[in-house]
Amino acid sequence: MISVLDNRREVLFVGAGPGDPELITVKGLKALRSADVVIYAGSLVNPALLAELPPGAVAHDSAPLTLDQVLELMLEAVAAGRRVVRLHTGDPSVYGAIQEQMAALDARGIAYAVIPGVTAAFAAAAALKQELTLPGVAQTVILSRAEGRTPVPEKEHLHRLAALGGTLCLYLSVGLIEEVVAALLTGAYTPATPAAVVYRASWPDERRVEGTLADIAGKVRAAGIGRQALIIIGEVLAARTDGVPEKSKLYDPEFSHGFRLKS
Ligand code: SAH
Repeated sequence: MISVLDNRREVLFVGAGPGDPELITVKGLKALRSADVVIYAGSLVNPALLAELPPGAVAHDSAPLTLDQVLELMLEAVAAGRRVVRLHTGDPSVYGAIQEQMAALDARGIAYAVIPGVTAAFAAAAALKQELTLPGVAQTVILSRAEGRTPVPEKEHLHRLAALGGTLCLYLSVGLIEEVVAALLTGAYTPATPAAVVYRASWPDERRVEGTLADIAGKVRAAGIGRQALIIIGEVLAARTDGVPEKSKLYDPEFSHGFRLKS
């Protein structure tokens, strides 16, 4: 099997995972272990991962840098023949601002590859011990955010998503929890819809706050959570207290599929 790591690429975008350094992929870890230069998002990437760098490798925190400065670092390192890892929190494709970095590399003919990571929504689901898709309850997961300084297209505003229902995972939004709740109550969700907030999922100081749309905002404020948290909203969250309404067809003895024929 040919690995992106065997095929030398000048730049590797790597998902660091949600925080726990053991939640990076094996491939991501190998990339770190063979990097010369790492540019990491210091606000959410666990610095423990930097201990994996080989001796002599250089690490730059991108938190105080602009995109142009990040690119400059990358291009300088590539020009010097170094192996660059751009280490992003969670998965690089979700609110990672990698497209513009990749476009800049394309424009210069610099080869790169992307190694995915565990995104915060899945780390939050794991922290809650919660399946996001339950038959008869929700078969759709939406990853989105409230509009903040970054605009959200009108057709994706929360009241529109709320009309759809399903399981909603909101990034970058806990600071706007009151506005989030108000927008969601205009759609398929009600004050009784379960809601959970996971702060720093998979970190040692992880915290979970659970409630309904009626009380989640107050509970989040009381817990002092204003950032680095993932909001999950949807009826699936009731399954841990109220039971699982419908068993999955996958393991149903009456349901045959490609890997298990009906007996
Ligand atoms: N690329 C990242 C998301 C970056 S945007 C990913 O795939 O997870 C940053 C937002 O992600 C934060 O505001 C927060 O909403 C969420 N986030 C990142 N890490 C988190 C964690 N460990 N626990 C809860 N939320 C997290």
